Amino acid sequence: MAEKRDYYEVLEVHRNASDTEIKKAFRKLAIQYHPDKNSGDKEAEEKFKEITEAYEVLSDSQKRAQYDQFGHAGLGAGGFSSGGFGGFGAGTPFGDIFGDIFGDIFGGRPRGSRGRRGDDLQYNLELTFEEAAFGVEREIQVPFGKRCGECGGSGAKPGTEPKVCPTCRGAGQVRFQQGFFSVSKTCSHCNGEGRVVENPCPTCRGNGMVRDTKTLSVKVPAGVETGTRLKMTGEGGQGAKGGGNGDLYIAIAVKEHPIFTREENDVICEIPISFVQAALGCEMEVPTLDGKVSMKVPEGTQSGRIFRLRGKGVPQLQGYGRGDQMVVVKVETPSNLNKRQRELLEEFARISGEDAHPMKKNFFDKVMDLFS
Ligand SMILES: [Zn+2]
Ligand SMILES: [Zn+2]
Repeated sequence: MAEKRDYYEVLEVHRNASDTEIKKAFRKLAIQYHPDKNSGDKEAEEKFKEITEAYEVLSDSQKRAQYDQFGHAGLGAGGFSSGGFGGFGAGTPFGDIFGDIFGDIFGGRPRGSRGRRGDDLQYNLELTFEEAAFGVEREIQVPFGKRCGECGGSGAKPGTEPKVCPTCRGAGQVRFQQGFFSVSKTCSHCNGEGRVVENPCPTCRGNGMVRDTKTLSVKVPAGVETGTRLKMTGEGGQGAKGGGNGDLYIAIAVKEHPIFTREENDVICEIPISFVQAALGCEMEVPTLDGKVSMKVPEGTQSGRIFRLRGKGVPQLQGYGRGDQMVVVKVETPSNLNKRQRELLEEFARISGEDAHPMKKNFFDKVMDLFS
């Protein structure tokens, strides 16, 4: 996964930019990359998410201070990242921002009279190396936009009904003649909803939506890695005024392991051994994801040699079989020698012919050839 870019860089402002400057920079970029203007353009969509995330942090003085001091790490992994919100309807933290910024530019977002689909949400889930390898079931708390229970999502005060919009007569669109063409445009009176609320519901203030949190159990399959996204269909925000629910995406991030790293489904582990063990050979215990196993290191093993333990890697995501574990042996040169140890090594050097170090002999023979 690509490294997260610096938020200031994303918004193209300097580090001591004022709130106004940040807001201005965000407006400019947000208009440029807004999904409404770049329909189907994945790159613009990603860019848009990136700038909204940066803005969400830099526009909040507390979050900004944390970010300034600790960088991305200061904002914490896990929990809810608002940068990942996919939808921008009511109920997301961007509701206000976009109401403010896009309300005038786009003349209201076209919604059609069939209601508004719920927001797609993203939850960032952090897992240990082992949990990612073998899968895990986790309970998560997901804030989401819920249909208002008071008005059933209509936005109208209980006992009243939303009225058919008088401007578009419920169509959500108005048509007008422009030269030879008949043009249709989203009705600005009802924002395309076809209905208008005259007496707003006091609980949701006419929005039809309220914020709530739900607890979900997530079954993470074995073999996921940082960057894997799991989709939970229909578990996003609830739709308003008859629209369907959004989806929930679980974005996986895997914590670093103290001794293992991973390449695809192979687990890599570097193990230091002494030069005596390397020279004489030994039987050693090697940690794996399944616990310790015994491994034979043959005599004369060179530093950097890789031993493959078959089937000790990570299970294939949604497939069969497992990767391998690669044990990389690092020969440690002894240091902090005492007098006796030094004597023994000097003795060893005296009695050792070149036969004990064929690589070294080979190399210096070539050097001799070059310079003779
Ligand atoms: Zn309500
Ligand atoms: Zn209307």
